[in-house]
Amino acid sequence: MSVEYRKPLPGIDDVNRPYWEAARRHELVIQKCHRCGYYRYPPGTNCPDCLSDDLEWVKVSGRGTVFTWTVFHKVYHPAFAGDAPYAVVAVELEEGPRVTSNMVDCPLEDIAAGMPVEVVFDDVTGEITLPKFRPIKQEG
Ligand SMILES: [Zn+2]
Repeated sequence: MSVEYRKPLPGIDDVNRPYWEAARRHELVIQKCHRCGYYRYPPGTNCPDCLSDDLEWVKVSGRGTVFTWTVFHKVYHPAFAGDAPYAVVAVELEEGPRVTSNMVDCPLEDIAAGMPVEVVFDDVTGEITLPKFRPIKQEG
């Protein structure tokens, strides 16, 4: 039961492979500098703060807040034709880094800066799972 997925997929390389392997396990991981504690995203080979190459992958909470967002009305790739208008959000994780992704389970007009969100995982192919974000439901 494989449905053909027509949207562009991330390029996996030796640097970012742990990120995508964790996503397949439905875990969000971020590189943390072993020397100074800085969390970096997107993945790279050195800490942008102290330049150390002693980075480790750590599982993070997957919670954060919407830092900013934009709504795409124009279709730049034919595979997105059925989605427009759709939102692309920059989520500031609790640990600091900002991750760009899509918002799900949220009307476009409800998206707001500072909105608390949590990661969800969208298994788009057998190989690729995309981390996306949804609002954290307020209790009561
Ligand atoms: Zn560092």
